[in-house]
Amino acid sequence: MAKASERKGIRTEEYDCCRRTREQVRETIRLNYRSFPVIQNIVCRTCSMVLNIRVYTREELEQA
Ligand SMILES: [Zn+2]
Repeated sequence: MAKASERKGIRTEEYDCCRRTREQVRETIRLNYRSFPVIQNIVCRTCSMVLNIRVYTREELEQA
């Protein structure tokens, strides 16, 4: 039985699968987007966690 804090979508810590998804999205943004900020909600393919991606400047992507 999952505790409330572990229910899908509301936990706050990031799993490895989510971190990888976030990095892929950031790479996609880096390659394809020309205007900033970019703010998207992406669903992790592994655990279905909704990830809020916020990139305010291109420099933010380059420095990762
Ligand atoms: Zn995940």
